[in-house]
Amino acid sequence: MQLQLNNKFSSELPADSNETNVTRQVLNACFSYVNPRVPSNPKLLHVSEEVAELIGLSTEEIQSQDFLDVFSGKKILAHSKPYAMAYAGHQFGNWAGQLGDGRAIVLGEIEHNNQNWMLQLKGAGSTPYSRRADGLAVLRSSIREHLCSEAMFHLGVPTTRSLSLMLTGDEVLRDVMYNGNAEYEKGAVVCRVAPTFIRFGSFELFSAQNDIENLKKLADFTIKYYYPEIQSEGKEKYISFFKHVAVKTREMIVHWQRVGFVHGVMNTDNMSILGITIDYGPYGWLEDFNHEWTPNTTDREHRRYGFGNQPDIALWNLLQLANALYPLIEEASPLEAILNDFQLQYENDYSQMMHEKLGLSLQSKSDERIINELEKVLLASETDMTLFFRELGRIKKDHSPGCAIAIIDDAFYKPEEIKKEILKEWEKWFKTYLSRLNKESLSDEQRKEKMDAVNPKYVLRNYMAQMAIEAANNDDYSLIIELQELLKNPYQEQPLFEKWYAKRPDWAKEKIGCSMLSCSS
Ligand code: AMP
Ligand code: MG
Repeated sequence: MQLQLNNKFSSELPADSNETNVTRQVLNACFSYVNPRVPSNPKLLHVSEEVAELIGLSTEEIQSQDFLDVFSGKKILAHSKPYAMAYAGHQFGNWAGQLGDGRAIVLGEIEHNNQNWMLQLKGAGSTPYSRRADGLAVLRSSIREHLCSEAMFHLGVPTTRSLSLMLTGDEVLRDVMYNGNAEYEKGAVVCRVAPTFIRFGSFELFSAQNDIENLKKLADFTIKYYYPEIQSEGKEKYISFFKHVAVKTREMIVHWQRVGFVHGVMNTDNMSILGITIDYGPYGWLEDFNHEWTPNTTDREHRRYGFGNQPDIALWNLLQLANALYPLIEEASPLEAILNDFQLQYENDYSQMMHEKLGLSLQSKSDERIINELEKVLLASETDMTLFFRELGRIKKDHSPGCAIAIIDDAFYKPEEIKKEILKEWEKWFKTYLSRLNKESLSDEQRKEKMDAVNPKYVLRNYMAQMAIEAANNDDYSLIIELQELLKNPYQEQPLFEKWYAKRPDWAKEKIGCSMLSCSS
């Protein structure tokens, strides 16, 4: 297997001088060398061929024994020395101190077609950052990460990618709902791929340790390779860096809100410095439109990471990053200005995105009301977000409000229970919307085409991932393949897969793994 290794991160940044694999506090280091655990009986379940191509692997190479050995953790890539990355973070709003890769191990960094990629095995065994946990991952969470990262990519959402999904052949003990019912599950590893896995928390670590020298080294490294457009020097350089990260983060959040993705654990250690979606844990997809919804049962009480809170949390996380970078800037006002700008710009971006979802190319003063009123009626009638927006594209300018409701009413979860007053609200909303559509110059067909490009038809609904998991637990991996294929073209009509264009079935409403997920993985 030929991979073009360059190991930039590990050759240019400071390593932990201690190479023993023992849980500990690590100082003055960006990473610790550690080898993946050798799995007892690895089995390849799925490879994303596009990711393989991205890193320069051929179809033959994917099928080789070498591929199985390397991406299961059995064998180390020649000329590479694997390592776990150090970082800290704020979890659920509280400072958590050192975290680091407790079960992720970077196998190597490569270059292909002038692009840099880090290859990281998740679930590859304990590291100095494992704290009290085992360093392993189970099949269910690995399937969720593998499927969702690729689905997000094809939706056009910035994300880490997933190369491969493998069983390790070992069993892993997990208490899924943290209620004293631990059981053995199948162990698995995923190889995830991204330009880098540096996080907000990577900077917070050095700042908290008052290690300004390494804070600067890490910032300089990140700018040099990932924000090369930044040419300024001195404190201006770091202000510009922060600004770039804020913009990337904002763009990512707008995408999340557009497709109805709820990350579930937006801790600062789960925020990529590149503004890409990272760490697929108890994430979920909105079914009925609801700003408060979160799939994460650990967060049920406060709903800190609920759908509608994601922009505010991104801002809060950026504030923590600003604090971490402060020693390189020593001036608060430029950072505050960037944070303020995030808020203002986010509102513009959100409005623009909703205009696109609604098929409105012109901007009119009254549009904000249309958007706000829509969110209210969607919530009041338990409406499936994906179905609603996709069906909305079928409405024609000369339709009556009643006809329009008939087009979208498949999106209602309980059509028979919708009260008369709410239907009146829908009629009112459609009346305004239809008259607004009639001010647009695009034809119905042209508008539909534009709307279909931003309103996906197929997303990885929570129950779909769960079905793939249940089948895989019975050694049937066909759904993983089917869903991967389906989600490669989320905006296109796929008549053969029409069955996946459906609301959440009743059985999935309160099911563990569907609407209820924990951090256990
Ligand atoms: P997460 O909630 O997945 O972002 O994880 C938070 C921290 O806990 C990170 O430092 C992870 O590497 C670590 N972690 C999560 N699960 C495990 C595990 N099974 N073994 C070791 N460390 C873990
Ligand atoms: Mg994490």
